[in-house]
Amino acid sequence: MTDNLIRLSQAHLNLLETCPPQFQRIYLEQLNSPLSTLQQEKLAWGSQFHLLMQQKELGLPIESLLENDEQLQRAIASLIDATPEVWQSQPDILREAEHCRTLNFQGYLLTAIYDLLVINETKATIIDWKTYLQPENKTKIAKNWQTRLYLYILAETSNYLPEEISMTYWFVKLPTQPQSLTFVYNSTQHEKNRQDLSNLLTQLNGWLEDYSNNETPFPHRSHCQSNCPYYQSLLNAGFLSVNDNKEIQKDWMTLIDEIEEVSI
Ligand code: SF4
Repeated sequence: MTDNLIRLSQAHLNLLETCPPQFQRIYLEQLNSPLSTLQQEKLAWGSQFHLLMQQKELGLPIESLLENDEQLQRAIASLIDATPEVWQSQPDILREAEHCRTLNFQGYLLTAIYDLLVINETKATIIDWKTYLQPENKTKIAKNWQTRLYLYILAETSNYLPEEISMTYWFVKLPTQPQSLTFVYNSTQHEKNRQDLSNLLTQLNGWLEDYSNNETPFPHRSHCQSNCPYYQSLLNAGFLSVNDNKEIQKDWMTLIDEIEEVSI
């Protein structure tokens, strides 16, 4: 029975790990700030790109949908050109776009949606499309919960050994050629992911309990306090010592918006 479980995606885990107060604000209190026009445009473009890639995977024609958007047309054409191995027909056991998997873990429902999952006799490959340039910091991508959770859930919900599972990101951003980055999973990393997930969700249990019993705000991480305008303002105003929740709430909306959201 999973209906009553709290669902957690990679975005939830990333925010929980980097900024628990922002997790409280966005996911518990649903105080998300409105997106700028530029952010909305980027989001719409990314959604359209993913939808078209899904249509292509289903064998549906996409040409007519691209007629009025030359940039999208070129981006998709360059990605298809760069990834012939992805489109070759092979004796796959399973091949599905927007493939969703869930895993009940310590009373939470961990959720992953794979842009494309390809499974054959010997290996399982997760593919994820990104509509921006490949970030330089590869370690950061390896540590991001999208990479870690997606690999972890597949290893836990399939018969494949971690060593038989990989995840490849494709970064598509004109005029640069599409670039890819592959992470091959292994048993050591799998065990570490299990342990880190367990620790994070044990912390979440305690914070949720304190929040619902005493309205105690989610705690701040220590490594980011000196550079965080929100934390510094609370400190300067003396709120962190007196812990006045109502006053903290008052300043919440304006200041916490300045904290950068986590993305790969
Ligand atoms: S100090 Fe700032 S960035 Fe760090 S956890 Fe607190 S609110 Fe988040």
